[in-house]
Amino acid sequence: MNMEEMINKYFRPGRLPHIWCPGCGNGVVSGCVVKAIAKLDLPKDDVAVISGIGCSSRASGYLDFNTVHSAHGRAIPFATGVKLADPKLNVIVLTGDGDATAIGGNHFIHACRRNIDLTVVVYNNSIYGMTGGQYSPMTPTGSKATTAPYGMIEPDFNLTELARAAGATFVARATTFHAQMLSDLIVKGIQHKGFSLIEAVSACPISFGRQNKMGGPAEMMMWQRDHAVPIAAWDKLPEEKKEGKFPIGVLYEVEGRKEYTEAYDELIAMAQGGK
Ligand code: SF4
Repeated sequence: MNMEEMINKYFRPGRLPHIWCPGCGNGVVSGCVVKAIAKLDLPKDDVAVISGIGCSSRASGYLDFNTVHSAHGRAIPFATGVKLADPKLNVIVLTGDGDATAIGGNHFIHACRRNIDLTVVVYNNSIYGMTGGQYSPMTPTGSKATTAPYGMIEPDFNLTELARAAGATFVARATTFHAQMLSDLIVKGIQHKGFSLIEAVSACPISFGRQNKMGGPAEMMMWQRDHAVPIAAWDKLPEEKKEGKFPIGVLYEVEGRKEYTEAYDELIAMAQGGK
């Protein structure tokens, strides 16, 4: 399927053009989500896309699936309800770093803990873009934000480590520079039975790049190229060479842990007199 056919099939032309700034990574990540769904050849009616609030969360409005553009930080609770109502659906959550880890942080860790079969794609551009460049829990220490004009003094979350510790059973990361890898990881996340996190390291040239003098969109993608290390090489890297860099690829995967909707259905059967 070529790009034009993909757009005609999976996007809502009446909702375009999108609102994203030129050079924003949101389009790359959203394109990777669509390519993953196309690769798996999932019928559109079998897919539900749930988003929160923020620049990246506008993606649900552009995509022609069962979609919910929900409330700030609440994409995962909405998605949990959708999955429990119809466990056959492939439920994909699109959420930004602020949406997922600040307002929605508690929902995030408990969805990991339950191991509910959601595929959560976190667009991590290290900032609240839409509301004007305030820092999020994933703004790197020392980076500038409108709410941290002298530099962020708080340590930032390592979301993949957080997800793993909380109970997620598939954890991966890629960048918009590594778009093919990102799309392949989303495929794996959708196929995985249980909670899947795919962190997509992305660029907000307007609200993050300008404040931190990172250059334009192309330079920000070069930054991703120069700081991301494939997991096989990462594992061999001496500790002192890991400083300032981050691993990409499948970072953690475990099969066979009980999935939440299955446990819930078993409970219902037991309560109704089965075993
Ligand atoms: Fe993208 Fe940042 Fe513009 Fe929002 S403000 S659309 S995240 S570049």
